[in-house]
Amino acid sequence: MTDLSVTEAQARAALVEVVSYDLILDLTATPMRSRAEVRFRCRQPGTETFADLTVAATHSAVLNSEPVGPQVAGRLRLTGLRADNMLTVEADVADDVFTRFTDPADGAAYLFVTTFPEGAAGFMPCFDQPDLGATVTITLRARAGWQCFSSGAVADRTADGEWRFAPVQGLEPYLLVLCAGPFATRASTESARVPISVATRQSLTDVTGLDQFAATAARAVMHYEDLLGVPCPDPKYDIVFVPGLTALAVSVPGLMLVNETLLARMTDPDDDFAAMVCAHEVAHLWFGSHVSMRWWDDLWLDEAMATYLSNAEYWTAFGYRSKASAYWADGLPSTEPVSAPVVSSAQALSRPPAITYTKGAAVIRQLGALIGDDAMNAGLTDYLTRFGGSTTMLDDLVGCWSRAAGRDLAGWAQEWLRTSGTSVLRPEISVAGDLIESVAVVQEEASRTHLIGLGLYDLDTDGRLRQRRVLRAEISGARTVVPALAGERTPDVIVLNDGDLGYARVRFDPASRLVLTAAAMDVGEPLTEAVCWNSFWDMVTSGEFAAAEFAGLVGRRLRSGSSGLPLAAVEVLLERATAAADVWAHPALRAGLRERLAGAAHEAAAAAAAAAAAAPAAPAAPGSPLWRALAYGFAGCAESAAQLAVLRDWIDPAAAVDADLRARALRTLAARGLASGQEIDALASLDPVAGEVNRATCLAVRPSAAAKADAWAAALSDATSWRLAQAHASGIWVPGQESVLGGLDYFGAALPALAGRDARTQRRLAHLLFPATLVSEATIGVAEEWLAKTDGPAALRAAVEDQATAMYAVLAARRLAGGSI
Ligand SMILES: [Zn+2]
Repeated sequence: MTDLSVTEAQARAALVEVVSYDLILDLTATPMRSRAEVRFRCRQPGTETFADLTVAATHSAVLNSEPVGPQVAGRLRLTGLRADNMLTVEADVADDVFTRFTDPADGAAYLFVTTFPEGAAGFMPCFDQPDLGATVTITLRARAGWQCFSSGAVADRTADGEWRFAPVQGLEPYLLVLCAGPFATRASTESARVPISVATRQSLTDVTGLDQFAATAARAVMHYEDLLGVPCPDPKYDIVFVPGLTALAVSVPGLMLVNETLLARMTDPDDDFAAMVCAHEVAHLWFGSHVSMRWWDDLWLDEAMATYLSNAEYWTAFGYRSKASAYWADGLPSTEPVSAPVVSSAQALSRPPAITYTKGAAVIRQLGALIGDDAMNAGLTDYLTRFGGSTTMLDDLVGCWSRAAGRDLAGWAQEWLRTSGTSVLRPEISVAGDLIESVAVVQEEASRTHLIGLGLYDLDTDGRLRQRRVLRAEISGARTVVPALAGERTPDVIVLNDGDLGYARVRFDPASRLVLTAAAMDVGEPLTEAVCWNSFWDMVTSGEFAAAEFAGLVGRRLRSGSSGLPLAAVEVLLERATAAADVWAHPALRAGLRERLAGAAHEAAAAAAAAAAAAPAAPAAPGSPLWRALAYGFAGCAESAAQLAVLRDWIDPAAAVDADLRARALRTLAARGLASGQEIDALASLDPVAGEVNRATCLAVRPSAAAKADAWAAALSDATSWRLAQAHASGIWVPGQESVLGGLDYFGAALPALAGRDARTQRRLAHLLFPATLVSEATIGVAEEWLAKTDGPAALRAAVEDQATAMYAVLAARRLAGGSI
């Protein structure tokens, strides 16, 4: 890997203008062979620069007819530059540059490469930095029967397997994605101005939802064209499902790769998760492709914008699935501002995704509330028109919004995008008789300007909460009085950040907190209910609300009518309540909490199945999306013998449950030593997509020292693929298995083993392998000692600091008295 510093990048961009890359890659050769011609101009002839190059072996490297090289530490030195230069390199590509997959079903071979953030040098010489794009022309030699995909449209295809793609202008090396194999086209649509196709590997013949996925992409293209006032910049859009992608999906000009694990979320037309992922990727055709960041400081310009645009229809799901993770990440030592200096390309992805994506999107939504949707959208149109085909920095986008809003937003950007942390908002209410005397919003920990909703709720005669009204107020400084509420009849509940326009950790006054607890958050407004749950969860992890009581609230909410809850709420609340029982409550309460929570989930699932069966034209119960979400949650917290017996029924190969649910049930059984090796091994053949991953996790959760040692070794082995390493690691630390976990040496063995790996692997595995279930002052002490005496890689230090901080929080939460369900 080459590691480019920001100063080197700036100097190179000042010196060099890249004209074109012409790449020929022979995918059939072993090793893979590449030939690249790079044309570039130099603004100071006679000087020198370097290209990035990390190929396995160079056959020839020629600059303007003179041999150059060899590559040293990932760089090819280029001296004696002319005004116009041509660099030609023929090379062997290292084996691990492309991700390869052999389909166990039919032996077919597939391969792909994504170069984000700095992988293109693995197969061609390049000036690999976000602000140096060029016209890229690609030719691939492929096996007979293969389909090849790249950003360009297919210009020509010969009978002997040569694929020539049309040139793509202004493409940066980190956006190069290539994909080949005997793919089959499963769906296509011409309903947008841009033709869209969807392909999967050949053996996946019975997957459903692909037509809908293509239609969703087409709708998203048309929606963004309309909203942004800028036509889709690409002439075609190919969508390819591939196994083993590290991200859930990746979008570059004209091409989207999707992780096959998403297929499991596409079987149900009512499940909008895949549609949300699709809309995010389509948004990258404008934000990230058409206009992109100048340097890694501003990755949010691509990712927060895509997240913001794609969630327009899904803010409730965003509230449940994402926001709590951003509040949590923003309180950890590793947090950073949404936009913050990145010193070198190796650190490009070191920033927490919950900040770049989720906080970034939430902050833009907050800006939309502040300046209005019209100004928001006018600013985006101005930005895309002004900077289309080039790269930008924070001030460019904020400048467009400022002009559109007629308001200088530099101060806003400083507070929200250049400062880390989350404000805590707390209401201060004084009452005279049954009237409000005054309401003030107190801002703790940081002072920012927010425009938020204040919701007033009353208990109806039927004991349910009803929204009386919402008023919007601009909050700034340590204390803001809201005069509009003086003299109003006192409501039963006041919710700050009603409608979830803001990015803030909110608290309640004591009376509202009591009523909300009694009503198990059922306020009748889905977005605001998400705000309430996020607040109570934040109080659990801050040691202000008993975890056991939180688990009980979720159980009551499910029993009182889960039919009114969005799917995302059911999924997330069951997941959090299970974590409350497993991790945040005192261990002595764990079994009882789990059993009662599973009881509530099971009861609600039975009600959902009955409702689905009774509904006209409903799918056969069980099988409704709600039933599935409840069943999945139940499988995660089942505890009693009777509950575990239900899971045994589900893992029967003849049971009518999907592969995901079967794997979740098996995982709970395996963690209790109730699953045979044969049953776990069978996962791989039952599910061609996620089977191997689920098998690895189920093997790791088994309660024996030998199983833990095997999983530990597999997770740390260089030979294990990235996704399997994560799967092994994520099954090791199971709460309650402390007696078999003593032999694993995180600080002495795992961290040194990870030191030589790339930053992303370091970050993820250092998190997953941390002894998170050995909750004690002693574990924290060892972590602090390691931090004090080790000068390890930044990603490892950040993971250890974060995990130690999390363990402090767990200790504090466990000290609170437990409630009851
Ligand atoms: Zn993205």
